[in-house]
Amino acid sequence: MTATRAAGAPITVLISTGGTIAAHTTDDGAVPALGSAELLTATGTTDTGPAIRTVDLMSVDSSAMTVADQFAVAHAIADALADPAVRGVVVTHGTDTMEETAFLADLFAADERPVVFTGAMLPADAPGADGPANLAAALAAVDDPAARGRGVLVAMGGRLLPARGLFKVSTTDLAAFDTVPGAELGDSSPVPRRVLTGPVPAGRAARVDAFTLYPGVSPGLIAASVAQNAAGLVLAATGSGNTHPDITAEVALAVQHGLAVVVTSRVPYGEVTATYGGGGGAVDLRRAGAIVSPWLRAPQARMALIALLTAGHDHRSISDFFLAQHF
Ligand code: ASP
Repeated sequence: MTATRAAGAPITVLISTGGTIAAHTTDDGAVPALGSAELLTATGTTDTGPAIRTVDLMSVDSSAMTVADQFAVAHAIADALADPAVRGVVVTHGTDTMEETAFLADLFAADERPVVFTGAMLPADAPGADGPANLAAALAAVDDPAARGRGVLVAMGGRLLPARGLFKVSTTDLAAFDTVPGAELGDSSPVPRRVLTGPVPAGRAARVDAFTLYPGVSPGLIAASVAQNAAGLVLAATGSGNTHPDITAEVALAVQHGLAVVVTSRVPYGEVTATYGGGGGAVDLRRAGAIVSPWLRAPQARMALIALLTAGHDHRSISDFFLAQHF
C-alpha cells in the first residue's frame, strides 16, 4: 500500500483488482499488469490533488474471479470505510463481472460515502485507452455530493450508473453497460436499494448455480446441482420467465430439497412476471416454489442469492427481497 496524502485532507481509497484497465497486451493476449499507483499516474493525478490511498488487492481478469475474490473486494471496501478520514472508495475491476462484484458490494453498502467501480474496454497500452478517463470520472464522482447515499455506482464510458440493475451490453463499446430503464433515477428506480444488515459475511460463501434455459434443456442439470449440494439455483428462463414442464418438476424437487430457486429471464430488458401457465410458465414455476426476480437478471440475481444465503437469510426473507424489486 502506498499513500499520497496531503496533510489533514480527506482520503479517497483506490482499490485495484486487475481487468483490462490494468492490462498490457502480450503475445499471449491482454493480461493485468498495472497496480493502482500506475493507474492513478495515467490519469495525470498528482500529489497536489485530493489525497488518495492506493490498495493493490489482486491482479486478475474478472472472468477468472472466484466468489471468494468478490467477497474479498466487498471486505476491502468495508475496511477502507472503517477509517473516518476516508470520504469514498474507487474500485478498478474487469468489466466481464463488474455488474456482479459491484452489486455484491452494493448489498452491504450501508454507508453514505460514495463507492464507485470503474474499468476499461481497451488495455492500458492501447491507443485511445479509455481507462484513464474512466478512472478520473470515478474519482470525480467520489467528490460529488450528489453521489452520496446512492449505493455503489459504476463509472464507464461517460455514464455513472447505480450498480443494482446494471448489465454489460457490449463486448466492444466503450459505454459497455446499460441498466434497467429508470434505474438511473435513484429513489424511483424499479430496482429499489436493499441493504443487508450486518457486516459482509466472512467464511465460505453459499454455492449458487445458474443456468440459461432453452428448448431441449436437460432437466438433469437441476438434479446435478441438487446432488452437488448447491444451496440455491438461478434460472435464466425464456421470455417473461417460462420453460418446459419437465423443468418445473425438477424445480419442485429442488425446492423440496431446501434449495432457493430464483427465476429470471435470458431476455435483457423488461419485467419478468408470472403470466404464463401450461406447466412450464412462471405461474407454474412459482407454484413449484420458485421465486420470480422481476428485474435482476441472472448474474445479479445469483449474487443476491449468494449474499442472502451466506448472511443466513431464510426463504421468506429471500422471497421478500426479490418481491421488493417492483415498480
Ligand atoms: N476480461 C476483462 C476482465 O473482465 C474484460 C475487461 O476488463 O473489460 O477482466
